[in-house]
Amino acid sequence: MRKLLRTIFLIDLIEGLWVTFHYQHPKYRCTEQYPAERPKVAERYRGAPRLNTNPETGETLCIACNLCALACPEKLIVVSSERNEKTRRKELTTFTFDTSRCMFCGLCEDACPVDALELTQDFELASYSREGAIWDRQMLEEGPRPTKYKF
Ligand code: SF4
Ligand code: SF4
Repeated sequence: MRKLLRTIFLIDLIEGLWVTFHYQHPKYRCTEQYPAERPKVAERYRGAPRLNTNPETGETLCIACNLCALACPEKLIVVSSERNEKTRRKELTTFTFDTSRCMFCGLCEDACPVDALELTQDFELASYSREGAIWDRQMLEEGPRPTKYKF
């Protein structure tokens, strides 16, 4: 008899709907609202590479020693330099970093003696082509491009 009454008055359906709507409250929200809200990544997360510059002069900190390229197991960093005849010092000319092959192990930044190369907490590395995944010196110094999407 009890079961029949529950069926007639749709008690099971109402109970199910109550549970569903109860979890619509924002305090139960567990999905991330990216890209409207950027998720927090772990403190030790290694993401987009950056080539640091001197904040006062804007000059690169990279001394073109090539140690990062030698340390990289994927051999994806290419550093080019030329000798300044006046100062007799090597100066960085080009620097490329193929993000599509990088496994973000951090060996390159550990090898850098002047903290010029850094793996930042930025995670937006998507590109529309394989060529777009190869970052040149300008992209490495200026950081990832801002997202085109506005919310
Ligand atoms: S993080 Fe690892 S794989 Fe990526 S460039 Fe540096 S050394 Fe190479
Ligand atoms: S190890 Fe550092 S200083 Fe040397 S080439 Fe790489 S980024 Fe430049």
